[in-house]
Amino acid sequence: MPERIPRVVIVGGGFGGLAAAKALRKTPAQIVLIDRTNHHLFQPLLYQVATSLLTPGHIGSPIRGILRNQKNTTVIMGEVTGVDKDEKCVFVSDADREQVPFAYDYLILATGARHSYFGHDQFEKFAPGLKNLADAVAIRNKILQAFEQAEAEEDPSRHRDLLTFVLVGAGPTGVELAGAIAHLVRNTLRSEFRRIDPASARIVLVDLGNRVLGSFSEGLSSAAKGRLEKLGVEVRLGHSVDQIDEDGVVVAGERILSKTVIWTAGVTPSPAGKWLKAEADRGGRVRIQHDLTVPGHPEIFVVGDTASLDQNGKPLPGVAQVAMQQGRYAGNLIHRRLTGRPAPGPFRYFDKGSMAVVGKGFAVLQSGKVHISGLPAWLAWAAVHLEFLAQSNLRVSVFLQWVWTFLTGQRGSRLIVNHHGPERRSATADVPGRVMASGKSLAKGVGESDQVH
Ligand SMILES: Cc1cc2nc3c(=O)[nH]c(=O)nc-3n(C[C@H](O)[C@H](O)[C@H](O)COP(=O)(O)OP(=O)(O)OC[C@H]3O[C@@H](n4cnc5c(N)ncnc54)[C@H](O)[C@@H]3O)c2cc1C
Repeated sequence: MPERIPRVVIVGGGFGGLAAAKALRKTPAQIVLIDRTNHHLFQPLLYQVATSLLTPGHIGSPIRGILRNQKNTTVIMGEVTGVDKDEKCVFVSDADREQVPFAYDYLILATGARHSYFGHDQFEKFAPGLKNLADAVAIRNKILQAFEQAEAEEDPSRHRDLLTFVLVGAGPTGVELAGAIAHLVRNTLRSEFRRIDPASARIVLVDLGNRVLGSFSEGLSSAAKGRLEKLGVEVRLGHSVDQIDEDGVVVAGERILSKTVIWTAGVTPSPAGKWLKAEADRGGRVRIQHDLTVPGHPEIFVVGDTASLDQNGKPLPGVAQVAMQQGRYAGNLIHRRLTGRPAPGPFRYFDKGSMAVVGKGFAVLQSGKVHISGLPAWLAWAAVHLEFLAQSNLRVSVFLQWVWTFLTGQRGSRLIVNHHGPERRSATADVPGRVMASGKSLAKGVGESDQVH
C-alpha cells in the first residue's frame, strides 16, 4: 500500500492564507487552498481603486497564478460554509454543488473579516463599506455618478446633496478615503465639468471618538486632522451617527443631506468561530492558543483577522502584518510536524509599525519611538506598500501609475462600470447587498476594462 499523503486545507487566500501556503511549499503534503474568489487582494490599496487612482487589476492577483510554481499546492475556488471537527472535513459550495465535504489532516482558517454596522444593519443599504474589489468599484461608481448627475441637474439646489460625501469612521480607511476624495475633486475633476465646480464638493468625516486615527499617537492624530482640514475635509469628532437613509445622515441631531455615504467604521470576523463552535472574544474572533491552534484541536489553526490572541495583555490588531506572520508561523509549524522536527516556540508578533496616507504626498508613520509625518512618511509608506504587493508586475504597474498621477493628476480608471442591469440604471443602486463578497457577484462590479491581467 502506498503511504497516504497528508492533506493541509487552507481556507482563505488573503494575507494569512497565502503566507501559510508559501510556508508549506516544501512540505511533503498535499496543500489545498480554498477561496471564494479567484484572487488575492491587497486591501490596503482598496481606497485607491474606490477613488479611481488604481484599477482592480492593480491590487488583485489570481491566487493560482501566485502559487503556479508550488507543485504541492492546489487552488480551489469555492465558499466554505462549515467545518466538521470530528469527521475532519470542511464543507464547500461552488457554482454547481452545495456543501461538498472535503477532508483535511490539518486545517488553517484564514477567512478574514467583513463590515460591521454595530447592530444597525439597515444602514448597509445606504452606506456601503469597503472590503473587496466589488465594494471598491461600487463606491467608485457612486462617487463618479454623483458628479455626472450634478452636471446634468438643472436645479442647482440639488447639487448640494449630490456633491456632499460623508464618511462614517475616522480610522485609517476613513482618513485615507477622505484625503483621496479631496484630491480627486480638487485636482483631477476640477477642469472637466462646465455647469458645476467639483472643487466645491463637501467632504465630511464623522467619528464617535475624539481623534482621527485613534490607534496612532496624539501628535500624529492631530497632524492627520490638520492635513485633512487643509484639504478641505470637515472633520466631525465626538458625534455618533444616529441615522443613515436615502437622504443622507443625521449626526448629533443635525441632518446632512448626501447621496454618497460610505461606511468605514468597523469590521466583524468571518463566521469561523461558529463553524468550529469554539470560544470567541467579544467581537466574535476565535480565541486561539499561542501556537495558533484551537484549544483541544492541535490540527486546527486560525490566523489573521478572524483569530483572537493576546500579547502583553492586549489583543493583537487586525492588520496585514499580524495575518502574514501568523500564516507563516502556522505553515512552518505544520511543516515541522510533518517532517519530524521540533515545534517552534510560541508565536510572537513583531510590530513593524503603522502608517496611513492623508492625501497626496503626506502620511503619518508610527514605529516604536519613531513618529513622523509628511513627505518622508509618505515615501516610506509607498516603498512598503510596493514591496508587499503580491507580484512584481503589480509593483511596476502601481509604481508607474503613482508617478503618472503625481505628475499629471490623471487617474488609472474613471469608468462607471455596471455590467448587469440596464445602462440607465443608477450606480447609486449598487448597494453592497448586491455586489458583496462572492466570486459570482464580483463579476457584476468589475469591468473587463479594469483588468491588467
Ligand atoms: C480598506 C482596508 C484597508 C486596510 N488597510 C490596511 C493597512 O493599511 N495596513 C494593514 O496592515 N492592514 C490593513 N487592512 C487590514 C488587512 O487588510 C487585514 O488585516 C488582512 O487582510 C487580514 O488578513 P486575513 O488573511 O486575515 O484576511 P483577508 O486578507 O481578508 O483574507 C480572507 C480571505 O478569505 C476568503 N474567504 C472569506 N470567507 C471565505 C469562505 N467562507 N470561503 C472561502 N474563502 C473565504 C476571502 O475571499 C479572502 O480572500 C485594511 C483592510 C481594509 C478592508
